[in-house]
Amino acid sequence: MTETFVPPTRFAVPGRIAVSEQAASVWQTATLTGIRRETARATTFRFAVPGWPGHQPGQHLMVRLTAEDGYAAQRHYSIASAPDDSGHVELTLDHVEGGEVSGWFHTVARPGDQVEVRGPVSGFFAWPGDRPALLIGAGSGVVPLMSMVRHHRARNLTVPLRLLVSARSPEELVYAREFGAETTPVFTRSAPEGVPVGRMAAAHVAPLLAEQPSGGWEAYVCGSNSFAEHASRLLVTAGQPVERIRIERFG
Ligand SMILES: Cc1cc2nc3c(=O)[nH]c(=O)nc-3n(C[C@H](O)[C@H](O)[C@H](O)COP(=O)(O)OP(=O)(O)OC[C@H]3O[C@@H](n4cnc5c(N)ncnc54)[C@H](O)[C@@H]3O)c2cc1C
Repeated sequence: MTETFVPPTRFAVPGRIAVSEQAASVWQTATLTGIRRETARATTFRFAVPGWPGHQPGQHLMVRLTAEDGYAAQRHYSIASAPDDSGHVELTLDHVEGGEVSGWFHTVARPGDQVEVRGPVSGFFAWPGDRPALLIGAGSGVVPLMSMVRHHRARNLTVPLRLLVSARSPEELVYAREFGAETTPVFTRSAPEGVPVGRMAAAHVAPLLAEQPSGGWEAYVCGSNSFAEHASRLLVTAGQPVERIRIERFG
């Protein structure tokens, strides 16, 4: 790093890059090349990783920061960008109050800084792009789901994909300007005029399940522990088979 860190199974995907498990187990240098504010709390960090082995939408990586005295902190971060061959990956981090790693990124990191990354990790939450995907997220839980949405668009996939995303307010809806017809936002504290305010409910999930695409939905749920439990209960109640719900918990 230039800035010092001070502690306070293979699928057939159109165009998917093959991921070598050996490469994914090695720490690599990632150079920060861009910083993009998404909301008051969330920022996207773009990295050049020359040896990046490729990833599937939904996977995450490990970031390691090492201080001058050797103290190291490592955290998991979902990959926000779609798989491509640019040699870059993007992460979107919430600024956690008092957080060691997210705090460093939000207040210290500058383009040109270097960190270490290892990945991609976890094939379980990956969406190979070959089956209808029902994505449900809250807060920064939308990050791995956005990689899926971006992949769907970049490859012009025709397989059905829907995103149901919960945020406190329109101002806190990460990637708001990128969403299209596939996305239904749910606002829990404040909403634009005419849009109801409230927790994600059966009324949001049931119409999506009623679409019944050929082969059925594969559901991907991501967010805090409490949100993941709430959303998976809504899905099961609405008839989604429990073995077709994949959950990633950030909390
Ligand atoms: C698979 C996986 C993927 C993840 N992907 C993302 C991602 O894409 N974007 C992202 O922003 N985060 C993501 N996280 C969370 C991330 O790994 C860190 O936990 C988070 O950034 C906080 O780390 P920190 O070092 O800043 O805070 P720490 O120094 O670890 O914690 C500081 C304080 O904040 C509390 N805290 C820790 N995490 C949270 C949290 N998420 N919300 C509220 N309070 C918290 C701690 O209990 C502690 O009191 C992911 C986690 C997992 C397991």
